[in-house]
Amino acid sequence: MDWFYELPNLTKTDPEIAELIKKEVERQEFGLVMIPSENHVSISLLEALGSVLTNKYAEGYPKRRYYSGFEFIDPIETIAIERAKKAFGVPHANVQPYSGSPANLAIYLATCNTGDAIMGLNLPDGGHLTHGWKTSISGMLYKSIPYHVKEDGYIDMDEVAALARENKPKLIWVGATAYVREFDFEAFAKIADEVGAYLVADMSHITGLILAGAHRSPVDYVHLIMTTTHKTLRGPRGAMILVTKKGLGKDPELAEKIDKAIFPALQGGPHENQIAATAVALGEAMKPEFKEHGKQIVKNAKALASSLMGNGLKLVSGGTDNHLMLVDLTPLGVGKGIFASEALEAANIFVNKNTIPRDPSSPFYPSGIRLGTPSLTTRGMKENEMELVGGWIASVINEIAKYELPEKELRAEYLKNFRNEIRNNEKIRETRQKVKELCLKFPFYLNRV
Ligand SMILES: *Cc1c(COP(=O)(O)O)cnc(C)c1O
Repeated sequence: MDWFYELPNLTKTDPEIAELIKKEVERQEFGLVMIPSENHVSISLLEALGSVLTNKYAEGYPKRRYYSGFEFIDPIETIAIERAKKAFGVPHANVQPYSGSPANLAIYLATCNTGDAIMGLNLPDGGHLTHGWKTSISGMLYKSIPYHVKEDGYIDMDEVAALARENKPKLIWVGATAYVREFDFEAFAKIADEVGAYLVADMSHITGLILAGAHRSPVDYVHLIMTTTHKTLRGPRGAMILVTKKGLGKDPELAEKIDKAIFPALQGGPHENQIAATAVALGEAMKPEFKEHGKQIVKNAKALASSLMGNGLKLVSGGTDNHLMLVDLTPLGVGKGIFASEALEAANIFVNKNTIPRDPSSPFYPSGIRLGTPSLTTRGMKENEMELVGGWIASVINEIAKYELPEKELRAEYLKNFRNEIRNNEKIRETRQKVKELCLKFPFYLNRV
């Protein structure tokens, strides 16, 4: 058994934390992680992430630091930068962002003044908080003009064009956290170029697919790219900002502006253990096997989508082009996402409740669930397993049909009863057993030496 499960030292010095980490390994191992923004990183990557690099302060950039002791740290960060540039075909990469949200804030700082108009996909339509939603700093500091998806689930490009012409935004985001179709970067570029806006691809969710050739690349069409490193790229939690050739054409100082926005404007010392792990993730993603893996993620998603629909569930947009799908639970009632996600959790299937476009309920009690195939594909599962899992998910959702979200004051008590009943539900218990048996056939972290 490997160190990260045995935790031989921590078990002695802090058994309380050690025990919980071991339980979490088991949860991941014997559960189906279907939250599309999660994944299982490799054991080699965990070694880099858990290394003594975490001890080093490294404010600044390679060869331009404020402290001493960079003989080995600088080459590590430089390798991460060079791999990012090579993998995506861009002239500049910043690998220091702590995570996706601060990276997006740095992009605003580098390109906009407060009060400028910006455009992004509306949150309930699948957009990200940081693309101008009212409760995010992006919606507080900038004038947010959201665009939407149409009835069929595709982005309304006519609306994007009309809003851009009317509002002359400084920046347009193309990217999402719950969008099941392929982005038409070229169509966005035509609009952004016409109104002189920066076009930024936030490809966090689909970076692994892009590297695998399973989704078109934004590189030729956008000025900047932000990606988290921990989603389909299968790296540590973190993010990168890439400046494209087109971006340097629009503003030759864009790379310096991005670097300055990250440090010193927004962040202090970068997390070099995380950067080393990002380099490892990029190394893995540049291997030929990753192309197969990325394509399999999409094949699995299509197989899962057709199994869910075949079992009577309704999907937003009627299917998927990428790694994720949204189940529209409104045929069962309004605000059912919480029941579905908790019932599935009782069966060791992890998904998240999610708004659907034009959701009749609220973001905390939305009417859909979001699920995807990256983690299951990492474990080696294929279409046959997706067919099976789709059936299990549909049968669990069947069990929640009778639960209705009550008025606000009655919710706490109602949900308590619901949780009790779900835990003792025979059908869900059976499914949980089947999930565990399937997981045993596709082990990931346990029993590795
Ligand atoms: C995940 C995500 C982010 C934010 O990343 P965090 O690391 O959670 O801050 C930003 N944009 C999109 C599209 C995302 O999917």
